[in-house]
Amino acid sequence: MHRYLFPLSLLLVVLLLSACSPSPEEPDPLELYYPAFNAEELPEDFDASVLPRYDINMRVDPAVRKIDGVARIHFTNRSDRPLNDLFVRLYPNLRQLEGVMRLTSIVTLPDRFATGMGSMLDDTAARITLTESLPVDESIDLEIVYSVEALKQEGYVLFGESEGILSLPYSYPMLAAQTGDPANPWRLEIPPQHGDIAITDLALHTITVTLPSDIVIAATGTELTRTETSPGWTEHVFVTGPVREWAMIMSPDYLVESGEVDGIRLNSYYLPQDEVAGRAAYKEAAAALRAYNRMFAPYPYTELDIAEAPTRHLGMEYPGLNYIGIVTYRDKSYSQEQLVAHEVSHQWWYALVGSEPFRYPWLDEGLAEHTSLLYLEYFRGENTADRLRTIWKTSADWAAANGYDNVVGQEVTAFNGINYEILVYGKSAMFFDALYKQLGHDDYLEVLQTFIKLYRFKNPTPQDFLDTVKDVSGFDASALYQQWILTAVPTPTPEPSPEPTPQAGAP
Ligand SMILES: [Zn+2]
Repeated sequence: MHRYLFPLSLLLVVLLLSACSPSPEEPDPLELYYPAFNAEELPEDFDASVLPRYDINMRVDPAVRKIDGVARIHFTNRSDRPLNDLFVRLYPNLRQLEGVMRLTSIVTLPDRFATGMGSMLDDTAARITLTESLPVDESIDLEIVYSVEALKQEGYVLFGESEGILSLPYSYPMLAAQTGDPANPWRLEIPPQHGDIAITDLALHTITVTLPSDIVIAATGTELTRTETSPGWTEHVFVTGPVREWAMIMSPDYLVESGEVDGIRLNSYYLPQDEVAGRAAYKEAAAALRAYNRMFAPYPYTELDIAEAPTRHLGMEYPGLNYIGIVTYRDKSYSQEQLVAHEVSHQWWYALVGSEPFRYPWLDEGLAEHTSLLYLEYFRGENTADRLRTIWKTSADWAAANGYDNVVGQEVTAFNGINYEILVYGKSAMFFDALYKQLGHDDYLEVLQTFIKLYRFKNPTPQDFLDTVKDVSGFDASALYQQWILTAVPTPTPEPSPEPTPQAGAP
């Protein structure tokens, strides 16, 4: 494993050591990551030096869809109590992802103490028992040797290979998110099939991926170097700013359209047969990025990728990387443009403001979905925006008439594959739309701008949002919140009725 450790790993160790004993002569511990983000966009009270840091080396063999990796994780105990255990997530083992992730060994650095390890949550998490407890505010370095395997399948694939594209998000041991509650410090939920996956905290990453040289890779963060390390194999080194997860997708066939928008590198990856749509996706993402930079807040990272993905007509958001489903490139019955507008908005609603897709999926998806309406209204006019409003309403009416309505303000497990999109996207977006109409365009945007200013790189609650509305506009949104987010129609006796028009945008 160590033969493909990149010298940057050594540099990182030096930098980490320097973080423990700062002195004016020593380098800035964040210097390695600066190529990936604009430090001026961080809040003044934001201390990136205490974030977990991942330094991962992995070798990906796409022919057999297998990863062998070594993850070094630097972790500081910020939980207000000594920790005897740490938890990492093995998301590829989720039933819906159908992958296999194994941890081969775990040691602590630099002493290389072996640690105990136990599987839990249907093998989607590992409890790492430390040889001695980790005091509050102390740091530890773990080295985890691991492997991941993925399937080749037809149809919708979020994790694995389909249509000549290999999608490998969640392909490293990810620290479980922390709660801030000393009595119960870890987030240990199992994400259901219909929702988003990762429940994580912000972290910094250095990821070295060694791949066959003909493979084109799109990934979270910024690629620092690309080096052919042996005949036919190329090493790609990525770094990130403070982000909630790292993801990658690749294909030997990808073409890429690249450019700059507001100083941000934008790349659109697409298959050769979908070149027209792939170039259109670039233009749409550029328009969205430019618009949201002005409407909300500047995108704080230096690169954004969108990639044609084997996710049918659906999209998926990762920090700095958005999947746009392959069907939207080939079948215009679903709006590629609205999907791009929705997914790019997740760089603000999820990546920047941690909108908690597990606990408050409506806050996450409702804001993203309504933002796509703002995009359509701005670029395509009121009639196009109204068409999206009609889809939301028609779908919500269908759900109400057929026993699928539910209280929107619940965690992701309260929904199912039928009503998740209708309610958590559409009905929730109707709440934001009612607020938009109530406040008017300028005040509504001021609310969102303030919400970002207060909660970027944090995880706000619904009450935080309502308080922001009140503080900025003076309007008490409780009644609208009650109507759209906390109220469901009584369940009628279901009668057969036609399926509603599916919406773009999930998850
Ligand atoms: Zn979404």
